[in-house]
Amino acid sequence: MKLERQGPNYRKVNEEVTKILRANFVIAPPVRIEEIAQNYGLKIVEADFKLYSDNVSGVIDLKTNTIYVNQNEPDVRQAFTIAHELAHYILHKSELEKDQTGKLSVLYRKALGELNQDPKEKEANCFAANLLVPAELLEKYKDYNIDTIAKIFGVSQEVIGYRLQFENGGKQRKNTATRI
Ligand SMILES: [Zn+2]
Repeated sequence: MKLERQGPNYRKVNEEVTKILRANFVIAPPVRIEEIAQNYGLKIVEADFKLYSDNVSGVIDLKTNTIYVNQNEPDVRQAFTIAHELAHYILHKSELEKDQTGKLSVLYRKALGELNQDPKEKEANCFAANLLVPAELLEKYKDYNIDTIAKIFGVSQEVIGYRLQFENGGKQRKNTATRI
């Protein structure tokens, strides 16, 4: 009998993120996400998805261990895409391999606040945000404005808004952009 998964397991997400930050000696922003993904044996390839779809940010191909990122998106978005696909690789590889359609490995362009309800997607976004903006490093810059923090970490303002909200236990700061 196969048990269905419950909701997202954020405790596991945080454990994995902490392990990765330590193993890769991350001590200052920005987190070099491309190098980290490469350290886990993943290849990063910029691709043009226009022929395929207008709203795909990235795909991970588990047969070749390759992450394809949408070359038409800004660097901050590409960084998030790599971190999100790395999350699927670290957290969900065996589950995704069983899923012949591979549909769960595709990251569509969506705002953090309007995510689909798939626990794997929620885990991957939480993983990506926490890996790109580690709690210990965010603490040092938390009093700067969101735009400045976003530039320091090389992520969108929305990712910083999401992280500050998370660290503040749900309290929202103003000036949060709408898209990751
Ligand atoms: Zn995903």
